[in-house]
Amino acid sequence: MKKRTVLIFVEDKTVRVFLEKYFRKSDQYRPLFCSTVASLNTLLPKDGMSAVITEASLLQLTPLRSDEAPLIVVISGGREKGIAAAAAHKAAGYIVRPFLTEDLEFTLRSAIQNNEVTSTQKKEIKDLRTVNELTHLISSTLDPKEILYLIVKKIAEIMPVSRCSIIRIDWANKNLYVVASYETPDISTIKLSLKKYPEIAEFLKRKKPVLIEDITTDPIMKPVRDLVAPLGIKTILVLPIIFEQKVIGTLFLRTSKKRRFSAREIRLLNTITDVSSNTLYNAYLFTQTENEKTQLKKLAITDYFTGIFNVRYFYHRLIEEFNRSERYGLPISCLMIDIDFFKKINDTFGHKTGDLVLKEFASHLKRCSRKSDLLARYGGEEFIMMLPQTTEKGAFAEAERIRKAVRVLKFKSLKGRAGLTVSIGVSTFPHAKITNHDHLISAADDALYKAKHGGRNCVIVFD
Ligand code: GH3
Ligand code: MG
Ligand code: MG
Repeated sequence: MKKRTVLIFVEDKTVRVFLEKYFRKSDQYRPLFCSTVASLNTLLPKDGMSAVITEASLLQLTPLRSDEAPLIVVISGGREKGIAAAAAHKAAGYIVRPFLTEDLEFTLRSAIQNNEVTSTQKKEIKDLRTVNELTHLISSTLDPKEILYLIVKKIAEIMPVSRCSIIRIDWANKNLYVVASYETPDISTIKLSLKKYPEIAEFLKRKKPVLIEDITTDPIMKPVRDLVAPLGIKTILVLPIIFEQKVIGTLFLRTSKKRRFSAREIRLLNTITDVSSNTLYNAYLFTQTENEKTQLKKLAITDYFTGIFNVRYFYHRLIEEFNRSERYGLPISCLMIDIDFFKKINDTFGHKTGDLVLKEFASHLKRCSRKSDLLARYGGEEFIMMLPQTTEKGAFAEAERIRKAVRVLKFKSLKGRAGLTVSIGVSTFPHAKITNHDHLISAADDALYKAKHGGRNCVIVFD
């Protein structure tokens, strides 16, 4: 068994001889005699003292605090005064003349035992308080990501770790994301490269906690030792975060000093990961549904075949923009674009090739349209374009630009051949015959009809 260290500060010769004799025979304690207040002051704050023994007459001299190691007072002078002084200094015990080995043995043992029980209880109460705080936090209305950050912050407060993160594991895509990090509070999700974190790779393999006590000697860390060395990290602990029997993340702790984690600390950390797992799961679900929502939104407004906007979305936006134009007296134009003799493409090259040509045409058109304009598939090989804040003159120029650009377009699906042309109808608000967004579209359609009858490959303005 490891010997307990007892710090001794006495002056009286007989007391010293008695103590020296006692400790020489003891196989449980290691005495540490100090003869000056100065040396006592340097030794006392150190961890690992199981008890302190001093004389009643020295209590006034010394800055002894009884809240760390228990204090035992040797009373060699007046008993009453000595006991009163010991009580005033919150001593855990005392011995009086005649000094008996059994007396000291008993006093020392019970003082140390009591102290150990009390300090364990104190720590356990502190842990319970932490867990209680975290449970409250987790049931709060805060954003899950914020809660995850507060969890790592709390861990860093109660444990001497220099870095502390929560990492989410996306098993489906084999990715890891740092979702909360004490050292970088304003982190938004960061993707983690497993090559740089062999300890996490090892954890994923084992699905069990990984402790790297010393990164300079642990073989797991060999591939990244030089990389990690400048970070000043010594010990790493990777703990699983489990939700419904599945490892969904890890609590990733790193300390700058080599250390073991005590059973109590591990127990506390496990409790924290348990209470965090729900939050991590929620945060993950949240991002997943957010992604799905954006995905759905995108699907709802896209023409499946060509990948450009669909006409439903076009209407939605046109109504908005038309109202804005009316309100602020701004011009707005519309182009109706129809491919000339597209039936011939189908007839000559087959419907399948026709499809490919149409897809290519749509993406060309999208590329050559202005950012401020909105292009959508109107149906078949007809496209519609909204040009906000564009006059009739501007719209005509834009339509001409598109018509000329199409004429020279080369199509991969036609083995690099060009030769497609378009007819375009243009309408602009304000106009005497256009009073709503529907009129704007039908006017463009009218103009397109005229363009077709006027020989195609041309631009016609409504009225
Ligand atoms: P024009 O417009 O110059 O009068 O002649 P057109 O041959 O293009 O005739 P119209 O616009 O009236 O007809 C459109 C044709 O385009 C009809 C159809 O065969 C073809 N088409 C429409 N949508 C698709 C499609 O999604 N895929 C394919 N391959 N062909 C389509
Ligand atoms: Mg056509
Ligand atoms: Mg058509």
